[in-house]
Amino acid sequence: MQLQGKVAIITGAASGIGKEIAFEYAREGALVVIADLSGDAAAATAQEITQAGGTAMGVTMNVTDEAQVDAGVAQVMAAYGRVDILISNAGIQIISALVDFKFEDWRKLVAIHLDGAFLTTRACMRAMIQCGNGGTILYMGSVHSHEASPLKAPYVAAKHALIGLAKVVAKEGAKDRIRANVICPGFVRTPLVDKQIPEQAKALGITEAEVIKNVMLKETVDGEFTTTQDVAQTAIFLAAFPTSALTGQSITVSHGWHMQ
Ligand code: NAD
Repeated sequence: MQLQGKVAIITGAASGIGKEIAFEYAREGALVVIADLSGDAAAATAQEITQAGGTAMGVTMNVTDEAQVDAGVAQVMAAYGRVDILISNAGIQIISALVDFKFEDWRKLVAIHLDGAFLTTRACMRAMIQCGNGGTILYMGSVHSHEASPLKAPYVAAKHALIGLAKVVAKEGAKDRIRANVICPGFVRTPLVDKQIPEQAKALGITEAEVIKNVMLKETVDGEFTTTQDVAQTAIFLAAFPTSALTGQSITVSHGWHMQ
């Protein structure tokens, strides 16, 4: 029980990586907040966790909506009286060559990844400072926080930017014992990735099997996908770490695709 009694807000936690982290955090004793676009999906995930013996609540939160983010964090403070951990995880992918990228798609992706990270960070830092217990903020970066791939201009740019944000939060948060780090996974089989396999195949003119082997897993040491469990275990390690020795860092879990 490495996170006993800690209140953890996880954005985008009704699916994929965020959902796995929510389940693992609950197993470690955390009170988990599933913050996602659809209140119904968030409530359903929270109910699954409760049925499995954990403690969880669902919150409707579009991370690009300032009022909804602030209201969601206020709802958590009213229910649990504290916020200890934020995992800024909500994200999307849009695949297109840069010369064809629609401006509205660029803005949409950057808003979810970056405006969302800023708004949730600001609301949670305010709550953490008010509580006086310190805190941990984890950003879901990517190997694309360090490396580039074609067809992903706004995603790569936004994921790189999260490292800069985490470094500022590490510096500004230190006096209140708030730490900030970035997790950088390789490809994980979630709905986000399942959707882009046929899209990449079409854009690159190759088969879906070739996308997996020659694009997604080509640079790994063993040709394997990273799993949601790999990412969840990293998120536990970073949140449970006891001191500010580990702050302002990014840690990559990618089967050796990216080595720092
Ligand atoms: P997913 O599609 O399974 O889950 C994403 C979740 O985010 C969904 O529940 C969705 O409803 C939610 N979401 C989308 N827009 C939102 C918004 N505006 N406000 C609140 N919630 C919103 O995707 P995933 O693969 O689990 O991705 C989670 C994070 O991990 C993303 O930031 C993604 O970039 C990152 N990531 C994924 C991979 C991968 O290979 N799957 C690799 C590296 C990083």
